[in-house]
Amino acid sequence: MIVSNNLRKSYGKHEVLKGISEKIEKGEKVVIIGPSGSGKSTFLRCLNLLEIPTSGQILFKGEDIADPKNNINKIRQKVGMVFQHFNLFPHLTIKENITIAPVKLGILTKEEADKKAIELLRRIGLEDKAEAYPKQLSGGQKQRIAIIRALAMNPEVLLFDEPTSALDPEMVGEVLELMKELAEDGMTMVVVTHEMGFAREVANRVLFIDEGIVKEQNTPDEFFTNPQNPRLKEFLSKVL
Ligand code: ADP
Ligand code: MG
Repeated sequence: MIVSNNLRKSYGKHEVLKGISEKIEKGEKVVIIGPSGSGKSTFLRCLNLLEIPTSGQILFKGEDIADPKNNINKIRQKVGMVFQHFNLFPHLTIKENITIAPVKLGILTKEEADKKAIELLRRIGLEDKAEAYPKQLSGGQKQRIAIIRALAMNPEVLLFDEPTSALDPEMVGEVLELMKELAEDGMTMVVVTHEMGFAREVANRVLFIDEGIVKEQNTPDEFFTNPQNPRLKEFLSKVL
């Protein structure tokens, strides 16, 4: 579904991604771990063109997404993103947060979008919050709204950038639970997280990104019980 070929990204002289070549298959759940500053967010942001790669290629279903003749909005519709800090629009109601993008992009009519928003809110048990504003919600509720907002676009892939890192501990579970449900429904997911339990339980494959490259990857079982790279061993000894 997504292929990156020798993906590189620099900010000025600082090369943050130093050649990442990866394949993400349809239905796969890939978890990415690694130290702070190693390029995890930059990698995710490149996958839906929130950042423009300095060189290399990203193919989405075989098409080069950096090709100017492709429509960036189309790519962003198909490759949804959930951020650490939710990024809900504070001045819009929950329902408006969910409906604004699909309506603006012409994916759904206003009526279809409203109907879909209510269905999605019902799914997560928050239909009574449709007319509330983000500041009236808990962190866990906001993040679950951010996830269904991404779903309203009917994406083929969802990228998650540390979706539980900004939450109080008691709210982490409800967000991971929703992510597990999506995984079980067959969604293709790429998840940057420090939640090793989630990685073990849900991932097909875990990647260790360090200093801008993928230093190791494996099935969760092998990855956690038999790590090879010394930097990964050191990292795991700190987080496990
Ligand atoms: P991670 O998500 O693994 O913590 P990031 O991808 O956010 O790492 O960042 C990798 C490196 O790139 C860091 O050194 C960071 O300071 C730098 N960086 C990220 N975004 C920018 C930017 N917009 N401008 C300049 N440097 C950036
Ligand atoms: Mg990050």
